[in-house]
Amino acid sequence: MVWNRALKDRLSAESGAVTRDWGGRLPVAIIYANSYHIGMSNLGVHALYRWFNSRDDFVAERVFWEEGPQSTSGALSVESRRPLTDFSALAFSVSFELDYLNIPGLLDAAGIPARSSDRDESYPLVIGGGAVLTANPLPVAPFFDAICVGEAEAILPELARAIKETLGQPRQSQLDRIGAIPGVYVPRQKASVKRQFVSNLDDFPVGTAVFTEDTEFGDMFLLEVQRGCRFSCRFCLVASTFCPFRYRTLGSLLSQAEAARKYRDRIALVGPVVSEYPQLVELLRGLRGLDYNLSVGSMRVKPISSEVLEELVKGGVKSLTIAPEAGTPQLRRSIGKGFSDDDILEAISKIGEAGIRQLTLYSMVGLPGETDDDVRSLAALVLRCKTEADRHHVVLSLNVSAFVPKAHTPFEREPMTSAQDIDRRFDLLERSLSGKGVKVKPDASGWGEIQAALARGNEKLAEVIEKLDKVSLVGWRRALKGAGLSMEDYARRRFDEHEPLPWDFISM
Ligand code: SF4
Repeated sequence: MVWNRALKDRLSAESGAVTRDWGGRLPVAIIYANSYHIGMSNLGVHALYRWFNSRDDFVAERVFWEEGPQSTSGALSVESRRPLTDFSALAFSVSFELDYLNIPGLLDAAGIPARSSDRDESYPLVIGGGAVLTANPLPVAPFFDAICVGEAEAILPELARAIKETLGQPRQSQLDRIGAIPGVYVPRQKASVKRQFVSNLDDFPVGTAVFTEDTEFGDMFLLEVQRGCRFSCRFCLVASTFCPFRYRTLGSLLSQAEAARKYRDRIALVGPVVSEYPQLVELLRGLRGLDYNLSVGSMRVKPISSEVLEELVKGGVKSLTIAPEAGTPQLRRSIGKGFSDDDILEAISKIGEAGIRQLTLYSMVGLPGETDDDVRSLAALVLRCKTEADRHHVVLSLNVSAFVPKAHTPFEREPMTSAQDIDRRFDLLERSLSGKGVKVKPDASGWGEIQAALARGNEKLAEVIEKLDKVSLVGWRRALKGAGLSMEDYARRRFDEHEPLPWDFISM
């Protein structure tokens, strides 16, 4: 069959995949509810895959959810092309709210009832985890038997033991045992739950485990440097769901990088704010010593170190991203970003002087308290940045997305700006910058509103997700209306100051 051959081709194009004998081992499917290309760009998938396959008593295989002909494949595993019903447990790694929309379809294609209440022990245990499920799993909670709240490494040892020891027992006994594990939320039991995290990251190396060209970062080894953040921007999920700020030791990062050098000659450092790594210069030098070309994600505007920039340029970095987030110091202060316009211009100057030739600015529109004047100020700031960038022959572009309120952030009660206002502000920004030599890339706002609804939703949204005949904006609106719900209920509404929040049962 076509899809079977496609999976085989995919596996043969990879390095580092593990194809183990199933005999005597408990099979776990690591699932990413989106395409192979997107899923393989996600370090959570690699971390789970490595964790289970490093144990003698488990075998883990990967499953992705493709559009097109492969969606009829019954969601087969990449490694042995087995259906999901052959596995004892399905471990979903979920990083984006919009991937919720694929979960019931994926289970359905595998012949597994979407709702936990419709499944007994003859079906695999369906378990979820990831940052968005940690913040608020409710819109998809009815689909899962259990949800890990916090970092998988802190929960998996006990969870894996419980899965093994309750194999074959009635589903209720399995759930009773699993629900007693700290950090595990069993939706059918509806108890409160406390987020779990590990104290020493070095105990759990995280980096690319399987190499393939077919990802966003196909030519790189991805290496997780740190978790959490020492800043507390009011819109940001990292500060709450991944705190406290922790980082790996220099020695452990370099030894991971050395082991992966045979696969790739380019390395990307992954973390919320890589420029905050305390020994960044030493790390970059060490990686260059291993003959790696370097890549980093976003740098913080302030402080930005010329020494770090110099190392990055020596390591072949040609482009960087910084995030002013908003156009005025007042608005930036209100979201927890305390740097001035001059700090941004100084950062651009340093970046240009170091020899970086492409710079992306990242900003949001629709922030709480924002007005059209703030958007005009953002355009004016970008033009000042452009002048500074031109002085250093740096090509400037601007990525803009809509602010999306998220559970467990200081802005969790704020409404999402309406799609019309977001579109108008995108338009205002584009018109203000048109013909000025700055490429503006706005994110589609319609999906932002749906993301906000899912981020702050309750279990009623499970019905909407389940009834989606097609993952599209029109399909969503139709299903939402069919369930008697509206975007006002979730995305556009300000949650009252004293109103209990659906996700209060999770403590961070
Ligand atoms: S936006 Fe960046 S700096 Fe601010 S809390 Fe989040 S990760 Fe930290």
